[in-house]
Amino acid sequence: MNAAQRTVIENCAIATVDAADTEYPSGHLVLAGNRIESVGPGAAPAGLAGVVRRIDATGHLATPGLVNTHHHFYQWLTRGLATDHNLFDWLVALYPTWARIDEPMVHAAAQGSLATLARGGVTTAIDHHYIYPRGSGDLSGAIIRAARDMGVRFTLARGSMDRGESDGGLPPDFAVETLDGALAGTEETIDRYHDASFDAMTQVAAAPCSPFSISTELLRQGGELARRKGVRMHTHGSETVEEEKWCHELFGMGPTDYFESTGWLGDDVWMAHCVHMNDADIAAFARTGTGVAHCPSSNARLAAGIARVPDMLAAGVPVGLGVDGSASNESGELHTELRNALLINRLGAHREAALTARQALRLGTYGGAQVLGRATQIGSLEAGKLADLVLWRLDTLAHASIADPVAALVLGAAAPVTASFVDGRQIVTDGRLTTVDEDAIARSTRESARRLARLRPSGG
Ligand SMILES: [Zn+2]
Repeated sequence: MNAAQRTVIENCAIATVDAADTEYPSGHLVLAGNRIESVGPGAAPAGLAGVVRRIDATGHLATPGLVNTHHHFYQWLTRGLATDHNLFDWLVALYPTWARIDEPMVHAAAQGSLATLARGGVTTAIDHHYIYPRGSGDLSGAIIRAARDMGVRFTLARGSMDRGESDGGLPPDFAVETLDGALAGTEETIDRYHDASFDAMTQVAAAPCSPFSISTELLRQGGELARRKGVRMHTHGSETVEEEKWCHELFGMGPTDYFESTGWLGDDVWMAHCVHMNDADIAAFARTGTGVAHCPSSNARLAAGIARVPDMLAAGVPVGLGVDGSASNESGELHTELRNALLINRLGAHREAALTARQALRLGTYGGAQVLGRATQIGSLEAGKLADLVLWRLDTLAHASIADPVAALVLGAAAPVTASFVDGRQIVTDGRLTTVDEDAIARSTRESARRLARLRPSGG
């Protein structure tokens, strides 16, 4: 959008999620091009030139767009399977099916995952994609194309696995790449797609999958590659007791010490889950600025446990929210994770203030921007930042009797999204995507899921 063109939004409650948690019971936002020009109480300044649109947002809450920090889009095609399994059993049950994905399937799954996130107020998303079967086509390109077409700000965390069963890993050998192949594929993806600019719509991170599916060399060299290229690093860590035990048996240390020994703690790293962390692990994350993608629903679905988010926040660890792959979180929605994060972190006696509604909103917005290294650009509503924001409708039956709009958004039912803007462009209107055809995506995901199911090995 032209920088001289202004959109004025007025008469809504605003939760800016800035450093002071500034809120306005009734305020305004002015968007100029792809930036927020001003935000404040009451009506917008009079006499603004170039106003092309005025939105009367009475009955709404404006927040920063939600930031999803962990996902595996391809799993959109394998939802509702292995429904009563822990992580390792679930992985072993699903790997043989996952290893049969191809480019059209991955594209359809990315569209389904992104559409579900976006219509629920997500404006920035990542996909941690780590399965690249031989001859499956340009999977990274297909995922990035889906995000660009939808208009969602996006990081492809280019994943990889090189430790198959014959090397003591969990995935079958046919589902993994070689060390050199994984590194070359990651480097090529960075060179081709990573945009380091302030208003980048596409970024790439280096993201070896998890300790039990990658060699120590891939972890070490993958990290070195990321730092040489100036991109962020992402992986899974400390998800389950089984993983912790596995690390002790194989490496003689727990996951966090293993990551530190391979160069994988730092303010350019974020890690999914971090459920099984002792005090020293949390202190190491805080000292190094390592970020966490908290995935409460997935952790519950796989009985992984409850991450110590309140302790992490108290120690100063950057924490964002993630839905995780849709095979372990069938809903694939981030707005409902605000509520789930709050509720799950309160489980247990005397934990009634373990996580507040405002902290939950911060995890889903500014916290996510922090762990993706983009907190100067997105994650809060402040003049000069990118125009990524959501108008949540709170005047219907579901929320109208709740006076506090942030409590309504976090504790109430999933609020309807009247409008969602990314980079100043409206991509959702009245809960429907404006950039793509949702019904066509529903059909193609169904066809792809059926095709993949037919390829599933018998007994798998
Ligand atoms: Zn994951």
